[in-house]
Amino acid sequence: MDLGIKGKKAFVSASSKGLGLGCARALAEAGVDLVMNARGSDALEAAAADIRSEFGVNVETIACDVTTDAGQQAVLKAADGVDILVTNAGGPPPGMWHDWEREDFIKALDANMLTPITLMKALLPGMMDRGWGRVVNITSQSVKAPLAVLGLSNAARAGLTGYVAGTSRQVAGKGVTINNLLPGIHATDRAKSLDGGVSEKQGITVEEAKTARCATIPAGRYGTADEFGAACAFLCSQHAGFIVGQNILLDGGGVNATL
Ligand code: NAP
Repeated sequence: MDLGIKGKKAFVSASSKGLGLGCARALAEAGVDLVMNARGSDALEAAAADIRSEFGVNVETIACDVTTDAGQQAVLKAADGVDILVTNAGGPPPGMWHDWEREDFIKALDANMLTPITLMKALLPGMMDRGWGRVVNITSQSVKAPLAVLGLSNAARAGLTGYVAGTSRQVAGKGVTINNLLPGIHATDRAKSLDGGVSEKQGITVEEAKTARCATIPAGRYGTADEFGAACAFLCSQHAGFIVGQNILLDGGGVNATL
């Protein structure tokens, strides 16, 4: 399918690896020029070089922490005028509800709620002026079904979801859509780290932790970054202009709910 976005420009934050990289690659495959970002420059430069040579699009890289003021200023300078924004950042650490102090919540809110909001506030006006734009926020299945050990994620991402629910309906009339993609477990470094935590806590191997987790997923496996990226690229396509303010689960059926 021709996504109809060849020649457009996207900023994908936190995109040297994992789900962000999956989104960047799928957009590049559709002919979209990119601004990519991550803290570590080695993996970022390697990912950008692969994309340039595989898909022939322009890729600019900004190595910085997108959750900081300085990082946001740097990426926004490069992302000025983009048609597509995909927001992403690392997820908060696991723990239990009684573990976290104010500082932990502030950090999670900064990364997984206020950073995407800052990026949207900066880039939505240009998209609205030009009469076309797409925003996809990478959140989590924890928005629909809380994960006990990820209370910081449950809380911060719920805040972002509320902001998007209201904002998406205020910008849709200008040809700009905002939607959230909610990953269940996907085979990335984040999944390895979560499985490592389970292995340590339960005294089982990482492979056993992964097998046990797979048994809770109707699809019987972890998702891939390529599948996730393809869904993101579709939401950024010309065909998705009537999809507004939605929270779309990509979880292999893991969340057991009718709606
Ligand atoms: P990942 O494989 O660990 O990749 C994270 C990417 O983000 C890397 O490129 C990393 O590069 C970059 N990054 C992290 N923090 C950053 C920051 N502060 N500023 C700029 N770049 C940053 O993670 P993932 O699995 O793709 O997950 C992406 C998001 O989806 C996370 O918020 C995660 O919690 C959420 N999620 C993932 C899953 C899953 O199963 N994978 C499920 C639900 C939700 P650097 O380290 O070099 O910065």
